[in-house]
Amino acid sequence: MKKKILLIEDSPIQLKSIELTLSKLGHDIITAPNAIEGIEKAYQVVPDLIISDIIMPEINGYQLCRLLKNDDVMQKIPIILLTQLNEKLDSFWAIKAGADLFITKSEKHDEFLSQVRAFLEKTGCITEEERHQIINEKKSENKNLQTRINNLLDQSLIESTIINEFRNLSEFIYSTRILSKELFSLAFSLIDFNAAAIFFNERDDKKKKFLQLSVQNVSLEDRVLIELKNDFFSSVFSEKDMEEESFYDIEVLEIMSNSENTINSFSEFSSKAIIPINYANKIIGGLALYNTKPERFRNNKVIDIITKELKILMRIKWLYSETKYLAIIDGLTGLYNRRFFQQTLEREFARSKRHKTELSLALFDIDHFKHINDQYGHQFGDKVLAEISKIIKSSLRKTDYVTRYGGEEIIVVLPDTSTEQALIPIERIRKKIENKDFEYRDKKVKVTISCGISDVCGDVNSPEELLLRADKSLYESKRAGRNKTTCFSSCLKD
Ligand code: GH3
Ligand code: MG
Ligand code: MG
Repeated sequence: MKKKILLIEDSPIQLKSIELTLSKLGHDIITAPNAIEGIEKAYQVVPDLIISDIIMPEINGYQLCRLLKNDDVMQKIPIILLTQLNEKLDSFWAIKAGADLFITKSEKHDEFLSQVRAFLEKTGCITEEERHQIINEKKSENKNLQTRINNLLDQSLIESTIINEFRNLSEFIYSTRILSKELFSLAFSLIDFNAAAIFFNERDDKKKKFLQLSVQNVSLEDRVLIELKNDFFSSVFSEKDMEEESFYDIEVLEIMSNSENTINSFSEFSSKAIIPINYANKIIGGLALYNTKPERFRNNKVIDIITKELKILMRIKWLYSETKYLAIIDGLTGLYNRRFFQQTLEREFARSKRHKTELSLALFDIDHFKHINDQYGHQFGDKVLAEISKIIKSSLRKTDYVTRYGGEEIIVVLPDTSTEQALIPIERIRKKIENKDFEYRDKKVKVTISCGISDVCGDVNSPEELLLRADKSLYESKRAGRNKTTCFSSCLKD
């Protein structure tokens, strides 16, 4: 079937020469000497293919491409950009502008023809019905091309400016609070909302999490804040996840209140946009926008851009928090590593001295671990170590710091806890492990641990001393036959 090919070329000689070459295909060739006439003809005849030069006066090939590809109906027409340019950037730009193919002009007419022929074969046809529909619909619209091109360019400039603003925010990923504030102010300069809420998930479950809010031009009752949080989280998290994630605190970061306009009930918000962000099958954050006026966020191009950019930003933030987390966590046991322990102990020791609060240290060591390794292999030894770590971690408070101190030694910093208070959970752990069967193939293996506890009573002057006392107590447990807990007492001093 004969197809319509529209050829746009500003050089009369080249136009004639390409037209001649193309005529060998047996299709109808329509020509235009510049982009403006080309676009007019495109709307008049609705061709099956447009072949256009790039460098032309007034409107160039890239702009022509952008214009037609941004029109819902005209975007169906395939476009080949034809040029003498042979730089990587030119073909990149041609494809980005929406061109379907980029052909470099050369003397080899046969090659050019076969490229066009192959392209025509694989692209679908525009039906006569579609053609007539487009022609009738677009008759009235085909005016003032320059204005339409300018609008289009403006639009993409706005888009890239917003994207740029978002990219700049990534310098604040080190602080959730600053990042949220910056995000709110950028979002508010782009969209009209009365309340915006944002949260970032942290890889480290010890870090406190916040649902941060920005409130604009209204006052919100506390009750409404809670309802807003529930609404947001219940549309982002599953019920099971909700239990895990229930410990977010609400923090209002910005408030621009207009006291005449108080929202007493959550139902006064007539429109909302909720943007959950996931990564690796996990919700890593989200943004919610609320407005008392209806239909504020529907078909909003800016929200589409924000969604796309937020995804990138939150992933960067998540990877940052994961990197920080991995730097302090031991891979085998999932416990904190020694470097983190050192910092924690120093910080907690100073805090306890300053506030005169209790602080104790519990040092565990697996009994005869060498023997376990020798008898059942190193892999089984690793498994025992990981399981014991899990038991210790899950038996203590969230505020305690459980660390893999050395090979098979585990140390715990227990803030606000005296030796006597620590002894209760530590003994519970020791007994739990004593009673556990560790499975090696179809055999049940028994493993025990010994422990030493010390605390910051009056004459402990440094973290090192506290550690030394825990070590001495552990040694005493070993000396006394293992599977024991010893609390430091003055008789253990050298
Ligand atoms: P005890 O503490 O009761 O005096 O005896 P022990 O056999 O546990 O003594 P020791 O501290 O001398 O030996 C600890 C052994 O733990 C040595 C080492 O091979 C083993 N070990 C250390 N780290 C790991 C590890 O990550 N995985 C495994 N499988 N074994 C480890
Ligand atoms: Mg040991
Ligand atoms: Mg040891």
